[in-house]
Amino acid sequence: MRNQDFSNIVIKNTMTSKKEKVIIDSSRPTAIYVCGITPYDYAHIGHGRCNVTFDVLVRYLRANNIVVKYCRNFTDIDDKIIARAEKEFGNANRYKEIADKYIDAFTQDMNKLNCVTPDFQPRVTEVINEIIAFVEGLLDKGVAYVVDNDVYFSIDQWPTYGSLSKRNIEELLVGARVSANEKKINPLDFALWKGSVKQTRRETQTGDFAQDDDEGMFWQSPWGMGRPGWHIECSVMATQYLGMVDIHGGGMDLIFPHHENELAQSEALLGGEPVRIWMHNAFVQINNEKMSKSLGNFFTLRDMFTQYDPMVIRYIMLMHHYRTPIEFSVEMCTMAQSTYNRLEKIFGTIQSIKPATIHMSTTSTAGATNTTDTNNTAETTSTDSTSKTVDAMSAALADDMNTVAALGILFDAIRDTTIFEQEKEQIAWFLREVFGLLLVAEEKESVELSHEMQELVAAREEARAAKDYKKADEIRAKLQLLGYEVQDKKAK
Ligand SMILES: [Zn+2]
Repeated sequence: MRNQDFSNIVIKNTMTSKKEKVIIDSSRPTAIYVCGITPYDYAHIGHGRCNVTFDVLVRYLRANNIVVKYCRNFTDIDDKIIARAEKEFGNANRYKEIADKYIDAFTQDMNKLNCVTPDFQPRVTEVINEIIAFVEGLLDKGVAYVVDNDVYFSIDQWPTYGSLSKRNIEELLVGARVSANEKKINPLDFALWKGSVKQTRRETQTGDFAQDDDEGMFWQSPWGMGRPGWHIECSVMATQYLGMVDIHGGGMDLIFPHHENELAQSEALLGGEPVRIWMHNAFVQINNEKMSKSLGNFFTLRDMFTQYDPMVIRYIMLMHHYRTPIEFSVEMCTMAQSTYNRLEKIFGTIQSIKPATIHMSTTSTAGATNTTDTNNTAETTSTDSTSKTVDAMSAALADDMNTVAALGILFDAIRDTTIFEQEKEQIAWFLREVFGLLLVAEEKESVELSHEMQELVAAREEARAAKDYKKADEIRAKLQLLGYEVQDKKAK
Protein backbone atom coordinates (compact mmCIF):
# COMPACT_ATOMS: atom_id res chain seq x y z
CA MET A 1 0.00 0.00 0.00
CA ARG A 2 1.20 3.47 -0.76
CA ASN A 3 2.12 5.58 2.22
CA GLN A 4 0.80 8.70 0.72
CA ASP A 5 -2.68 9.31 -0.49
CA PHE A 6 -4.91 12.19 -1.32
CA SER A 7 -7.95 12.66 0.83
CA ASN A 8 -11.27 13.83 -0.52
CA ILE A 9 -10.84 16.98 1.53
CA VAL A 10 -10.04 20.02 -0.60
CA ILE A 11 -8.78 23.39 0.61
CA LYS A 12 -8.27 26.49 -1.49
CA ASN A 13 -4.54 27.00 -1.78
CA THR A 14 -3.57 30.70 -1.83
CA MET A 15 -0.47 29.79 -3.85
CA THR A 16 -2.38 28.31 -6.80
CA SER A 17 -5.82 29.92 -6.17
CA LYS A 18 -7.23 26.42 -6.64
CA LYS A 19 -8.92 23.95 -4.37
CA GLU A 20 -6.42 21.19 -3.73
CA LYS A 21 -6.65 17.82 -2.04
CA VAL A 22 -5.08 17.46 1.38
CA ILE A 23 -2.45 14.70 1.37
CA ILE A 24 -2.73 12.04 4.01
CA ASP A 25 0.49 10.16 4.61
CA SER A 26 0.23 7.12 6.86
CA SER A 27 3.91 7.35 7.80
CA ARG A 28 3.55 10.71 9.53
CA PRO A 29 0.92 13.01 11.03
CA THR A 30 -0.71 15.73 8.96
CA ALA A 31 1.16 18.90 9.94
CA ILE A 32 -0.67 22.17 10.49
CA TYR A 33 1.10 25.40 11.36
CA VAL A 34 -0.82 28.57 12.23
CA CYS A 35 0.84 31.93 12.89
CA GLY A 36 0.17 32.97 16.44
CA ILE A 37 -0.05 36.30 18.22
CA THR A 38 2.42 38.91 19.39
CA PRO A 39 1.35 39.11 23.04
CA TYR A 40 1.34 42.82 23.81
CA ASP A 41 -2.40 43.30 24.26
CA TYR A 42 -5.63 41.34 24.60
CA ALA A 43 -6.60 39.23 21.60
CA HIS A 44 -9.17 40.85 19.34
CA ILE A 45 -12.03 39.42 17.37
CA GLY A 46 -9.80 38.89 14.30
CA HIS A 47 -7.54 36.57 16.32
CA GLY A 48 -10.68 34.76 17.43
CA ARG A 49 -11.74 34.22 13.85
CA CYS A 50 -8.37 32.93 12.69
CA ASN A 51 -8.10 30.47 15.54
CA VAL A 52 -11.68 29.20 15.27
CA THR A 53 -11.15 28.67 11.51
CA PHE A 54 -8.15 26.40 12.05
CA ASP A 55 -9.67 24.82 15.14
CA VAL A 56 -12.59 23.53 13.06
CA LEU A 57 -10.12 22.24 10.45
CA VAL A 58 -8.09 20.36 13.09
CA ARG A 59 -11.25 18.97 14.74
CA TYR A 60 -12.62 17.90 11.36
CA LEU A 61 -9.47 16.04 10.31
CA ARG A 62 -9.33 14.32 13.69
CA ALA A 63 -13.00 13.37 13.46
CA ASN A 64 -11.97 11.60 10.24
CA ASN A 65 -9.38 9.63 12.23
CA ILE A 66 -6.52 11.56 10.64
CA VAL A 67 -3.61 12.09 12.99
CA VAL A 68 -2.82 15.80 13.16
CA LYS A 69 0.12 17.69 14.64
CA TYR A 70 -0.84 21.28 15.24
CA CYS A 71 1.68 24.04 16.00
CA ARG A 72 0.93 27.69 16.81
CA ASN A 73 3.66 30.09 17.91
CA PHE A 74 3.97 33.11 20.18
CA THR A 75 6.13 36.06 19.06
CA ASP A 76 7.21 36.83 22.62
CA ILE A 77 9.93 39.37 21.77
CA ASP A 78 8.97 42.37 19.66
CA ASP A 79 9.17 46.17 19.71
CA LYS A 80 5.48 46.37 20.59
CA ILE A 81 5.94 44.16 23.66
CA ILE A 82 8.91 46.24 24.77
CA ALA A 83 6.96 49.47 24.27
CA ARG A 84 4.11 48.02 26.33
CA ALA A 85 6.52 47.13 29.20
CA GLU A 86 7.75 50.68 29.10
CA LYS A 87 4.17 51.96 29.23
CA GLU A 88 2.87 49.55 31.90
CA PHE A 89 5.96 49.28 34.14
CA GLY A 90 8.14 52.18 33.02
CA ASN A 91 10.77 49.51 32.37
CA ALA A 92 11.41 47.96 28.96
CA ASN A 93 13.37 45.10 30.50
CA ARG A 94 10.18 43.74 32.03
CA TYR A 95 8.91 42.76 28.57
CA LYS A 96 8.76 39.09 29.62
CA GLU A 97 6.04 39.89 32.16
CA ILE A 98 4.03 41.56 29.42
CA ALA A 99 4.42 38.55 27.12
CA ASP A 100 3.42 36.14 29.93
CA LYS A 101 0.41 38.22 30.90
CA TYR A 102 -1.02 38.38 27.38
CA ILE A 103 -0.17 34.77 26.56
CA ASP A 104 -2.19 33.76 29.65
CA ALA A 105 -5.05 36.02 28.60
CA PHE A 106 -4.97 34.61 25.06
CA THR A 107 -5.05 31.05 26.41
CA GLN A 108 -8.11 31.89 28.52
CA ASP A 109 -9.84 33.44 25.52
CA MET A 110 -9.11 30.40 23.34
CA ASN A 111 -10.45 28.11 26.08
CA LYS A 112 -13.64 30.15 26.24
CA LEU A 113 -13.99 29.75 22.47
CA ASN A 114 -13.52 25.99 23.04
CA CYS A 115 -10.48 25.81 20.75
CA VAL A 116 -8.31 22.71 21.10
CA THR A 117 -4.86 23.31 22.56
CA PRO A 118 -2.21 22.98 19.84
CA ASP A 119 0.32 20.16 20.26
CA PHE A 120 3.12 22.73 20.19
CA GLN A 121 3.03 26.38 21.26
CA PRO A 122 6.65 27.48 20.97
CA ARG A 123 7.89 30.95 21.87
CA VAL A 124 10.52 32.77 19.83
CA THR A 125 12.77 33.21 22.86
CA GLU A 126 12.95 29.40 23.16
CA VAL A 127 14.37 28.89 19.67
CA ILE A 128 17.02 31.63 19.37
CA ASN A 129 19.85 29.12 18.77
CA GLU A 130 17.84 27.38 16.06
CA ILE A 131 17.10 30.77 14.46
CA ILE A 132 20.81 31.66 14.45
CA ALA A 133 21.61 28.31 12.82
CA PHE A 134 18.90 28.88 10.18
CA VAL A 135 20.27 32.36 9.36
CA GLU A 136 23.79 30.95 9.12
CA GLY A 137 22.44 28.35 6.69
CA LEU A 138 20.92 31.10 4.52
CA LEU A 139 24.26 32.98 4.54
CA ASP A 140 26.01 29.77 3.46
CA LYS A 141 23.56 29.40 0.58
CA GLY A 142 24.39 32.93 -0.59
CA VAL A 143 20.84 34.26 -0.30
CA ALA A 144 21.54 36.51 2.71
CA TYR A 145 24.15 39.13 3.58
CA VAL A 146 25.49 40.90 6.66
CA VAL A 147 25.57 44.70 7.07
CA ASP A 148 26.99 45.98 10.38
CA ASN A 149 25.19 43.79 12.93
CA ASP A 150 22.17 43.06 10.76
CA VAL A 151 21.52 40.14 8.43
CA TYR A 152 19.17 40.56 5.43
CA PHE A 153 17.56 38.15 3.01
CA SER A 154 18.46 39.11 -0.54
CA ILE A 155 15.36 38.87 -2.70
CA ASP A 156 17.47 39.39 -5.85
CA GLN A 157 18.89 35.93 -5.14
CA TRP A 158 15.37 34.48 -5.01
CA PRO A 159 13.63 34.76 -8.41
CA THR A 160 10.29 33.31 -7.25
CA TYR A 161 9.85 36.03 -4.62
CA GLY A 162 6.26 37.36 -4.86
CA SER A 163 4.77 34.05 -6.06
CA LEU A 164 2.54 33.53 -3.00
CA SER A 165 1.14 37.06 -2.73
CA LYS A 166 1.14 37.64 -6.53
CA ARG A 167 2.73 41.00 -5.86
CA ASN A 168 4.42 42.88 -8.61
CA ILE A 169 8.02 43.41 -7.56
CA GLU A 170 8.37 46.61 -9.61
CA GLU A 171 5.34 48.16 -7.91
CA LEU A 172 6.53 47.09 -4.51
CA LEU A 173 9.89 48.70 -5.19
CA VAL A 174 8.27 52.06 -5.89
CA GLY A 175 6.67 51.97 -2.43
CA ALA A 176 9.76 50.61 -0.70
CA ARG A 177 12.09 53.29 -2.07
CA VAL A 178 10.12 55.99 -0.25
CA SER A 179 11.30 54.67 3.10
CA ALA A 180 14.60 53.31 1.84
CA ASN A 181 17.03 51.86 4.33
CA GLU A 182 20.43 52.46 2.76
CA LYS A 183 21.84 49.39 4.47
CA LYS A 184 19.86 47.11 2.17
CA ILE A 185 21.00 46.15 -1.32
CA ASN A 186 17.40 45.96 -2.55
CA PRO A 187 14.79 48.02 -0.65
CA LEU A 188 12.60 44.89 -0.52
CA ASP A 189 15.22 42.83 1.32
CA PHE A 190 14.04 41.97 4.81
CA ALA A 191 15.82 41.48 8.12
CA LEU A 192 16.66 37.99 9.33
CA TRP A 193 18.60 39.31 12.28
CA LYS A 194 18.52 42.84 13.72
CA GLY A 195 21.59 44.04 15.57
CA SER A 196 21.12 46.03 18.76
CA VAL A 197 21.10 49.71 17.83
CA LYS A 198 22.83 50.75 21.06
CA GLN A 199 25.55 48.23 20.47
CA THR A 200 26.13 49.42 16.93
CA ARG A 201 26.50 52.97 18.15
CA ARG A 202 28.86 52.08 20.97
CA GLU A 203 30.81 49.79 18.77
CA THR A 204 31.50 52.52 16.23
CA GLN A 205 32.43 54.98 18.97
CA THR A 206 34.73 52.79 21.01
CA GLY A 207 35.65 49.99 18.67
CA ASP A 208 34.42 47.26 21.00
CA PHE A 209 31.34 46.37 22.99
CA ALA A 210 30.68 44.77 26.31
CA GLN A 211 27.45 43.15 27.52
CA ASP A 212 24.58 45.25 26.29
CA ASP A 213 22.65 47.42 28.75
CA ASP A 214 19.38 45.75 27.83
CA GLU A 215 20.43 42.31 28.94
CA GLY A 216 17.84 39.68 28.06
CA MET A 217 16.41 41.70 25.20
CA PHE A 218 19.23 40.82 22.84
CA TRP A 219 21.09 37.62 22.19
CA GLN A 220 24.70 36.93 21.32
CA SER A 221 25.12 35.84 17.72
CA PRO A 222 27.94 35.55 15.17
CA TRP A 223 26.90 39.08 14.10
CA GLY A 224 26.99 40.62 17.59
CA MET A 225 24.15 41.23 20.04
CA GLY A 226 20.75 41.32 18.39
CA ARG A 227 17.30 39.89 17.90
CA PRO A 228 15.64 37.79 15.19
CA GLY A 229 13.61 39.50 12.47
CA TRP A 230 9.90 38.70 12.61
CA HIS A 231 9.49 36.29 9.69
CA ILE A 232 12.36 33.94 10.44
CA GLU A 233 10.73 32.50 13.58
CA CYS A 234 7.90 30.78 11.69
CA SER A 235 10.29 29.15 9.21
CA VAL A 236 12.36 27.87 12.13
CA MET A 237 9.50 26.71 14.34
CA ALA A 238 7.62 25.00 11.52
CA THR A 239 10.81 23.11 10.57
CA GLN A 240 11.67 22.37 14.18
CA TYR A 241 8.29 21.06 15.30
CA LEU A 242 6.66 19.78 12.13
CA GLY A 243 9.13 19.38 9.27
CA MET A 244 7.17 19.70 6.06
CA VAL A 245 3.91 21.59 6.60
CA ASP A 246 0.76 20.22 5.00
CA ILE A 247 -1.43 23.22 5.75
CA HIS A 248 -0.06 26.60 6.76
CA GLY A 249 -2.69 28.94 8.11
CA GLY A 250 -3.15 32.54 9.06
CA GLY A 251 -5.19 35.64 8.37
CA MET A 252 -5.12 37.09 4.84
CA ASP A 253 -3.22 40.11 6.20
CA LEU A 254 -0.23 37.78 6.71
CA ILE A 255 0.12 36.77 3.05
CA PHE A 256 2.40 39.74 2.42
CA PRO A 257 5.02 40.24 3.60
CA HIS A 258 5.03 37.65 6.40
CA HIS A 259 4.22 34.45 4.52
CA GLU A 260 5.96 35.55 1.32
CA ASN A 261 9.15 36.06 3.35
CA GLU A 262 8.68 32.88 5.32
CA LEU A 263 8.30 30.91 2.11
CA ALA A 264 11.44 32.46 0.57
CA GLN A 265 13.50 31.64 3.66
CA SER A 266 12.23 28.06 3.99
CA GLU A 267 12.50 27.23 0.30
CA ALA A 268 15.98 28.73 0.10
CA LEU A 269 17.31 26.68 3.00
CA LEU A 270 15.28 23.50 2.84
CA GLY A 271 14.55 23.20 -0.87
CA GLY A 272 11.52 21.33 -2.15
CA GLU A 273 8.09 22.44 -1.09
CA PRO A 274 8.13 23.38 2.60
CA VAL A 275 4.38 24.14 2.61
CA ARG A 276 1.83 22.19 0.58
CA ILE A 277 -1.27 24.31 1.08
CA TRP A 278 -1.46 27.93 2.20
CA MET A 279 -4.85 28.59 3.77
CA HIS A 280 -5.93 32.12 4.71
CA ASN A 281 -9.03 33.37 6.45
CA ALA A 282 -10.75 36.67 5.66
CA PHE A 283 -11.05 39.76 7.82
CA VAL A 284 -13.47 40.79 10.51
CA GLN A 285 -14.99 44.23 10.21
CA ILE A 286 -17.05 46.19 12.64
CA ASN A 287 -18.83 48.86 10.68
CA ASN A 288 -21.87 49.04 12.86
CA GLU A 289 -21.98 52.32 14.72
CA LYS A 290 -24.04 50.98 17.61
CA MET A 291 -21.57 48.19 18.17
CA SER A 292 -18.53 50.43 17.80
CA LYS A 293 -19.93 52.71 20.46
CA SER A 294 -20.68 49.92 22.90
CA LEU A 295 -17.29 48.29 22.54
CA GLY A 296 -14.95 51.17 21.82
CA ASN A 297 -12.83 50.80 18.75
CA PHE A 298 -10.65 47.89 19.80
CA PHE A 299 -12.73 44.76 19.76
CA THR A 300 -11.13 42.42 22.21
CA LEU A 301 -12.59 38.98 22.63
CA ARG A 302 -13.03 39.61 26.33
CA ASP A 303 -15.07 42.74 25.64
CA MET A 304 -17.26 40.67 23.32
CA PHE A 305 -17.59 37.96 25.97
CA THR A 306 -19.06 40.47 28.44
CA GLN A 307 -21.98 40.91 26.05
CA TYR A 308 -22.24 37.56 24.28
CA ASP A 309 -21.72 33.93 25.16
CA PRO A 310 -18.34 32.93 23.60
CA MET A 311 -20.23 30.10 21.89
CA VAL A 312 -22.35 32.71 20.11
CA ILE A 313 -19.15 34.37 18.86
CA ARG A 314 -17.94 30.96 17.71
CA TYR A 315 -21.28 30.33 16.03
CA ILE A 316 -20.96 33.65 14.15
CA MET A 317 -17.61 32.47 12.76
CA LEU A 318 -19.27 29.24 11.54
CA MET A 319 -22.14 31.19 9.94
CA HIS A 320 -19.57 32.65 7.52
CA HIS A 321 -17.33 30.81 5.11
CA TYR A 322 -13.76 31.35 6.30
CA ARG A 323 -12.85 33.20 3.09
CA THR A 324 -15.76 35.65 3.43
CA PRO A 325 -15.34 38.80 5.56
CA ILE A 326 -17.51 39.04 8.67
CA GLU A 327 -19.17 42.36 9.38
CA PHE A 328 -20.13 42.39 13.01
CA SER A 329 -23.25 44.27 14.03
CA VAL A 330 -25.51 44.24 17.07
CA GLU A 331 -28.32 42.87 14.89
CA MET A 332 -26.20 39.97 13.64
CA CYS A 333 -25.04 39.10 17.16
CA THR A 334 -28.61 39.19 18.48
CA MET A 335 -29.77 36.95 15.66
CA ALA A 336 -26.88 34.52 16.23
CA GLN A 337 -27.61 34.52 19.97
CA SER A 338 -31.20 33.49 19.38
CA THR A 339 -30.23 30.78 16.85
CA TYR A 340 -27.56 29.42 19.18
CA ASN A 341 -30.02 29.40 22.09
CA ARG A 342 -32.41 27.47 19.89
CA LEU A 343 -29.70 24.89 19.15
CA GLU A 344 -28.97 24.64 22.86
CA LYS A 345 -32.64 24.02 23.58
CA ILE A 346 -32.79 21.29 20.95
CA PHE A 347 -29.46 19.60 21.67
CA GLY A 348 -28.63 20.63 25.23
CA THR A 349 -30.00 17.46 26.78
CA ILE A 350 -29.09 15.14 23.90
CA GLN A 351 -25.98 13.03 24.34
CA SER A 352 -23.36 12.86 21.59
CA ILE A 353 -23.04 9.58 19.73
CA LYS A 354 -20.30 9.18 17.16
CA PRO A 355 -21.61 7.81 13.85
CA ALA A 356 -20.16 4.54 12.55
CA THR A 357 -18.66 6.44 9.63
CA ILE A 358 -18.84 9.95 8.32
CA HIS A 359 -18.47 11.21 4.77
CA MET A 360 -15.65 9.26 3.12
CA SER A 361 -12.86 11.74 3.56
CA THR A 362 -10.09 9.44 2.44
CA THR A 363 -9.85 7.55 -0.81
CA SER A 364 -8.06 4.74 0.95
CA THR A 365 -7.37 3.77 4.52
CA ALA A 366 -3.87 5.25 4.33
CA GLY A 367 -3.33 7.69 7.11
CA ALA A 368 -6.54 6.79 8.83
CA THR A 369 -5.85 5.30 12.18
CA ASN A 370 -7.92 4.49 15.16
CA THR A 371 -5.79 6.41 17.60
CA THR A 372 -7.52 8.84 19.87
CA ASP A 373 -5.33 11.72 18.89
CA THR A 374 -7.91 14.35 19.58
CA ASN A 375 -8.18 16.35 22.75
CA ASN A 376 -11.92 16.23 22.48
CA THR A 377 -12.95 12.63 22.18
CA ALA A 378 -14.11 12.44 25.77
CA GLU A 379 -17.52 11.11 26.59
CA THR A 380 -18.66 10.20 23.12
CA THR A 381 -20.02 6.79 22.47
CA SER A 382 -20.35 5.39 18.99
CA THR A 383 -23.02 3.56 17.09
CA ASP A 384 -23.35 1.14 14.18
CA SER A 385 -25.58 3.47 12.23
CA THR A 386 -24.56 6.38 10.09
CA SER A 387 -26.44 9.64 9.99
CA LYS A 388 -27.15 10.91 6.48
CA THR A 389 -27.26 14.41 7.88
CA VAL A 390 -23.84 14.14 9.51
CA ASP A 391 -22.51 12.60 6.30
CA ALA A 392 -23.80 15.54 4.29
CA MET A 393 -22.49 18.10 6.79
CA SER A 394 -19.11 16.39 6.70
CA ALA A 395 -19.13 16.42 2.88
CA ALA A 396 -19.77 20.18 3.02
CA LEU A 397 -16.66 20.64 5.16
CA ALA A 398 -14.63 18.43 2.81
CA ASP A 399 -15.33 21.08 0.17
CA ASP A 400 -13.04 23.84 1.42
CA MET A 401 -14.51 23.85 4.93
CA ASN A 402 -17.93 25.09 3.89
CA THR A 403 -19.42 25.57 7.34
CA VAL A 404 -22.24 27.67 5.86
CA ALA A 405 -23.47 24.78 3.69
CA ALA A 406 -23.13 22.42 6.67
CA LEU A 407 -25.36 24.67 8.78
CA GLY A 408 -27.92 24.78 5.97
CA ILE A 409 -28.05 20.97 6.03
CA LEU A 410 -28.43 21.05 9.81
CA PHE A 411 -31.45 23.35 9.72
CA ASP A 412 -33.12 21.30 6.98
CA ALA A 413 -32.70 18.23 9.16
CA ILE A 414 -34.14 19.93 12.23
CA ARG A 415 -37.21 20.92 10.21
CA ASP A 416 -37.79 17.33 9.08
CA THR A 417 -38.90 15.64 12.29
CA THR A 418 -38.66 12.10 10.90
CA ILE A 419 -34.98 12.45 10.04
CA PHE A 420 -34.21 14.39 13.15
CA GLU A 421 -35.60 11.90 15.66
CA GLN A 422 -33.37 9.10 14.32
CA GLU A 423 -30.21 11.09 13.94
CA LYS A 424 -30.21 13.72 16.65
CA GLU A 425 -27.50 12.11 18.83
CA GLN A 426 -25.14 11.87 15.87
CA ILE A 427 -25.87 15.43 14.82
CA ALA A 428 -25.17 16.50 18.41
CA TRP A 429 -21.82 14.71 18.16
CA PHE A 430 -20.92 16.59 14.99
CA LEU A 431 -21.91 19.96 16.43
CA ARG A 432 -19.90 19.38 19.61
CA GLU A 433 -16.86 17.56 18.25
CA VAL A 434 -16.36 19.15 14.84
CA PHE A 435 -18.00 22.55 15.18
CA GLY A 436 -16.80 22.79 18.78
CA LEU A 437 -20.12 24.16 20.03
CA LEU A 438 -20.62 23.22 23.68
CA LEU A 439 -24.44 23.13 23.50
CA VAL A 440 -25.11 22.81 27.19
CA ALA A 441 -28.58 22.46 28.60
CA GLU A 442 -29.22 25.63 30.43
CA GLU A 443 -32.39 27.43 31.30
CA LYS A 444 -32.19 30.67 29.44
CA GLU A 445 -34.50 33.57 29.88
CA SER A 446 -37.34 33.47 27.43
CA VAL A 447 -36.31 34.67 24.01
CA GLU A 448 -38.47 36.58 21.64
CA LEU A 449 -40.45 34.31 19.38
CA SER A 450 -39.60 34.49 15.72
CA HIS A 451 -42.29 35.15 13.14
CA GLU A 452 -42.35 31.44 12.27
CA MET A 453 -42.87 30.47 15.92
CA GLN A 454 -45.61 33.01 16.38
CA GLU A 455 -47.42 31.53 13.41
CA LEU A 456 -47.06 28.01 14.76
CA VAL A 457 -48.34 29.06 18.18
CA ALA A 458 -51.30 30.82 16.56
CA ALA A 459 -52.05 27.79 14.35
CA ARG A 460 -52.02 25.57 17.43
CA GLU A 461 -54.38 27.86 19.28
CA GLU A 462 -56.72 27.70 16.31
CA ALA A 463 -56.55 23.90 16.19
CA ARG A 464 -57.30 23.69 19.92
CA ALA A 465 -60.19 26.09 19.57
CA ALA A 466 -61.54 23.86 16.78
CA LYS A 467 -60.97 20.84 19.08
CA ASP A 468 -58.56 19.38 16.48
CA TYR A 469 -56.30 17.93 19.16
CA LYS A 470 -54.38 15.73 16.74
CA LYS A 471 -53.27 18.75 14.78
CA ALA A 472 -52.58 20.71 17.97
CA ASP A 473 -50.33 17.91 19.21
CA GLU A 474 -48.47 17.77 15.92
CA ILE A 475 -47.73 21.47 16.12
CA ARG A 476 -46.68 21.08 19.74
CA ALA A 477 -44.20 18.36 18.68
CA LYS A 478 -42.86 20.66 16.00
CA LEU A 479 -42.41 23.49 18.48
CA GLN A 480 -40.63 21.14 20.88
CA LEU A 481 -38.22 20.17 18.15
CA LEU A 482 -37.50 23.80 17.54
CA GLY A 483 -36.70 24.08 21.21
CA TYR A 484 -39.94 25.46 22.63
CA GLU A 485 -41.98 23.88 25.38
CA VAL A 486 -45.66 24.64 25.16
CA GLN A 487 -47.54 24.93 28.43
CA ASP A 488 -51.28 25.30 28.24
CA LYS A 489 -53.19 27.08 30.93
CA LYS A 490 -55.87 24.89 32.40
CA ALA A 491 -59.23 25.66 30.86
CA LYS A 492 -61.73 27.01 33.35
ZN1 LIG B 1 4.14 33.37 11.15
